[in-house]
Amino acid sequence: MTGSLRARIAWILAISALLASCTHAPKDAATGSEAAPVPVILVGIDGFRYDFLEAFEPPNLLELIEGGARAERMISSFPSKTFPNHYTLVTGLVPDHHGIVSNNMVDEELGRFSLGNRDAVQDGRWWQGEPIWVTAQRQGLRAAAMFWPGSEAEIEGVRPTYWTPYDDDLPGEDRVQNILDWLALPDDTRPSFLTLYFSRVDSAGHRHGPLSEQNRRAVLEVDALIGDLARKLEGRHQAVHWVFVSDHGMSETSPERVVLVDELIDLEGLLVIDTSPVLALAPKDPAAPPDGWPDVVLDRLNAHPHVAAYRKADLPAHLRHGTHKRVAPVLALADEGWRFSQVDREKVRPQTGLGGQHGYDPTVDSMGALLAFAGPRVRSGIQLGPVQNVDVYPLLCELLEIRPAPNDGSLTALEPALIAPN
Ligand code: AMP
Ligand code: ZN
Ligand code: ZN
Repeated sequence: MTGSLRARIAWILAISALLASCTHAPKDAATGSEAAPVPVILVGIDGFRYDFLEAFEPPNLLELIEGGARAERMISSFPSKTFPNHYTLVTGLVPDHHGIVSNNMVDEELGRFSLGNRDAVQDGRWWQGEPIWVTAQRQGLRAAAMFWPGSEAEIEGVRPTYWTPYDDDLPGEDRVQNILDWLALPDDTRPSFLTLYFSRVDSAGHRHGPLSEQNRRAVLEVDALIGDLARKLEGRHQAVHWVFVSDHGMSETSPERVVLVDELIDLEGLLVIDTSPVLALAPKDPAAPPDGWPDVVLDRLNAHPHVAAYRKADLPAHLRHGTHKRVAPVLALADEGWRFSQVDREKVRPQTGLGGQHGYDPTVDSMGALLAFAGPRVRSGIQLGPVQNVDVYPLLCELLEIRPAPNDGSLTALEPALIAPN
């Protein structure tokens, strides 16, 4: 990390600590003392497929999870992309209800949204529903985000007590150090809810494939960081709740499994809002759509054996998607392991080797995500069945002992792993 970046983060921490000291943890009714819950660390490992624990045997994660509970797999929300799912994890709402319906989307009033568009990412009007840090702060707790989609925006007038702008280059060691620093703050400024995010595994999975040697190394690198954090907290005798999640899994792709969109349909007059593996299309001019829109486009896309194209209102019910105004009028889904591209793009940037992709129907095997949690309120050695990712927000609220905002999730599947609060 550069000196200036370190200085900037130190400055943000100092200012935030000052602001945080103005808020109060809930009072314990009996003693009148502050009763902050055991801190919860939500660790997001982007693209960590549910079976990577067995495939790569990361020793620290396995040890922490052994002392807690693990879901057989976590089922993501559609589309199984990074932003929609990270925001589902912290709101308990499916993307169709929280408004981050894809990594790339269009809103008639707000314009275009994408991951790299800083203005959009920091604009609270995109982010609907109530993220856990807002729920927690409204109930007297403090929250710290070591990166998380949504954490840079003011949502319902609230930002996490501590947060930093996203910087993919910030080394993992510095992310871990920030968590340690936040947890070392005095009682009246220490956060009770913290996020810690890593993109390494997703990047390696895309580039080299889910079961590649490079991905194994990425998993073990992240595992070593988590082990370091756990040992340092243990050295301080600081108890925490760990919630390990991923946003989606990863499918193996191949140079041959490609659908060339412009060979199937005429893109003239159409806006390609999102590309792969979910193609999102709208007419450039909704008042004057191309001839035959959308039937001709749907028929031609559906003629491909590895594509299923729908009007937004006709998407399969289990995807729970298609009512939000930001969902494009036509979505085409590529089969697992397939991707959309265009003729010229393939010529300029031929795809080589085996890589990985996600975004597919979340119920296909390779999209299975990680959910494991441990800590004083979690039973040891518990194996749960499949869990939906909308259930993570109620779990976080339960561990933080706060009232959840209305959401699409439930604690039912997780209850066998939980110990009632004292
Ligand atoms: P995806 O295209 O769904 O694979 O998105 C993964 C990418 O999202 C990662 O490579 C990250 O760099 C990026 N990302 C993750 N969190 C954030 C964030 N809070 N702000 C901007 N980009 C992010
Ligand atoms: Zn992701
Ligand atoms: Zn990805």
